[in-house]
Amino acid sequence: MRVEFFRHSVGSEELDAISRVFDSVFLTNGPENLEFERAFSDYLGIQEAVTTSSSTAALHLALVALGIGPGDEVVTTPMTFVATSNAILMAGAVPVFVDVNQATGLIDADRVESVITSRTKAILPVHLYGQLADMRVIRETADRAGVRVVEDAAHAIEAQRDGVRPGQLGDACTFSFYATKSITSGEGGALTTNDGEIAQTVRRLRNQGMSSSALDRYGSRYRHWDVAAPGWKAGMSTFQAAMLVPQLQRIEKMWARRDEIARRYEAAFEAAGIEFPVAVPESNRNARHLFTIWVDPLRRDDILHGLEQRGVGVAVNYRPIHLTSYYRSRFGYEAGDFPVAEMIGERTISLPLYSGLRDDEVDYVITTVAKVCGPQGARAASGNPRAVRG
Ligand SMILES: *Cc1c(COP(=O)(O)O)cnc(C)c1O
Repeated sequence: MRVEFFRHSVGSEELDAISRVFDSVFLTNGPENLEFERAFSDYLGIQEAVTTSSSTAALHLALVALGIGPGDEVVTTPMTFVATSNAILMAGAVPVFVDVNQATGLIDADRVESVITSRTKAILPVHLYGQLADMRVIRETADRAGVRVVEDAAHAIEAQRDGVRPGQLGDACTFSFYATKSITSGEGGALTTNDGEIAQTVRRLRNQGMSSSALDRYGSRYRHWDVAAPGWKAGMSTFQAAMLVPQLQRIEKMWARRDEIARRYEAAFEAAGIEFPVAVPESNRNARHLFTIWVDPLRRDDILHGLEQRGVGVAVNYRPIHLTSYYRSRFGYEAGDFPVAEMIGERTISLPLYSGLRDDEVDYVITTVAKVCGPQGARAASGNPRAVRG
């Protein structure tokens, strides 16, 4: 058997939505973008959503819109996709990392305050794997320090924690519709905010800084546009927005299937003595974007390759950012700087998790993981990361 790491579930509804765009005037940033933005902000319980070319672009423009630039610091986690900290660099600011919680892999909210300086302008938590970071603590910390909060919710559209959903406590929040995300347009992203001014600024910044878009101007007497400050080119095409609309209508159904699969994984791996991140309490909701197991660091790559050989698609989410060559050489980071993130980076293996997985595929993943890890993998893994001081 071969179980792909990810298979999208776009089909005839998305194809119909795309083909309707062919018959319309606007192939980019058209009425479907506004339709999706409205539906997406309604779903999330937030006032504004702005579609972008990617979530990296949304993060970058969020930081620029908040006035963050050269000389500023943004506090974030090293246990995330490199897009998070690259966006901080794109804005001209410097990422300052805080180590993560050893049970969840989420930024350790209680430690954020200790790295805040007079140069800190924002905190950028990442809702890793589908669980929300502790937004109440992060918001309180930000307010005490007088800094802003931008959330990276690329993994967490459907999540909730302590009654809070992504974007509700941040000044801005970003989402990704990249090919492997829970709803996808191949490439694409969005920013949400309850601040109309931030939304307006990001709409301008994604379109060269122009005071109005082609859609704004369409159907009325020609009006000239102006540029008060230059922007970037970071909008979403109408085709992409059109194919996100029907997926958003299915999002809860697709989440429910991923939750069911993840619960089966958890029960099976618990019984086999294989570790995985601790799930938030039952009252909270994990968006179930990625399912990762934590194995013996000395055997991780062998297990990874063993799973691949037996036809189970795998990924590594993530090796920590601070140990990549660029971040090491520019900022002088070394092994040992963020020990919990490093330990997770050495132990983590992501398994297939998507709504199109069949039950027999889930069974195959479970039995193959148990076989490849073996009693040795399970024994070596048990209790290991909890020995690291977080
Ligand atoms: C996918 C991802 C991104 C980048 O999303 P793009 O839309 O590809 O720019 C950013 N952060 C995290 C945590 C991601 O998983």
